[in-house]
Amino acid sequence: MVDQKAPEDVGLTRDMAMQHNWRACAKCFGLWWNGNASSNGVCPAGGSHAGQGRSWDYVLPADPNDRV
Ligand SMILES: [Zn+2]
Repeated sequence: MVDQKAPEDVGLTRDMAMQHNWRACAKCFGLWWNGNASSNGVCPAGGSHAGQGRSWDYVLPADPNDRV
């Protein structure tokens, strides 16, 4: 059984937002953000990351006041 906790229990605040559109790359098995229409980013396995349409839509906590 997975122990599920409320966001407040793991240090998240309501000021933080959740960012979706993260995908798992089928080549390097890393997560990459699919929000850039012009590029999938550089994959360490070669070329650009793959997984659009074949990956779940992962949602990660993000602080809107922080910069990537
Ligand atoms: Zn990749």
